Order: sequence, then C-alpha cells, then structure tokens
Amino acid sequence: MEPLTIECLRCGDRRSELQHEPECVRCGYLGWARTASLDESTRKKLRERPPESRRLRLIA
Ligand SMILES: [Zn+2]
Repeated sequence: MEPLTIECLRCGDRRSELQHEPECVRCGYLGWARTASLDESTRKKLRERPPESRRLRLIA
C-alpha cells in the first residue's frame, strides 16, 4: 500500500498526503488519516461520530 496515502475519515476518499487542499474534494470534510494506520474498527468508530460539530467549524 502507498505509504503517503491518506483517506477521508468521513467518506473514505483517498488521496496523496502531498496534496495541498485541506478539505476533501468529495465531501468537504477536514479529517484525514493515513490509510496504513487505519483498520476497519477504527474507521467504523470515526464514521459513527456525529459530523455536526465538525460542520460548524467548517462554516465558521
Ligand atoms: Zn470525504
């Protein structure tokens, strides 16, 4: 697996860590983690968290 691949904690979209845009182009989320450091249980936990608190920060 590509070591510099990160994935969106909300929609799972993957991209290179070297890209500059802080937000996910697909869903606008700002949470990323290295794909290599995530396992399925971690992904599930992160996606079960309510997105509302993050969304407020994005608007502000
Ligand atoms: Zn996303």
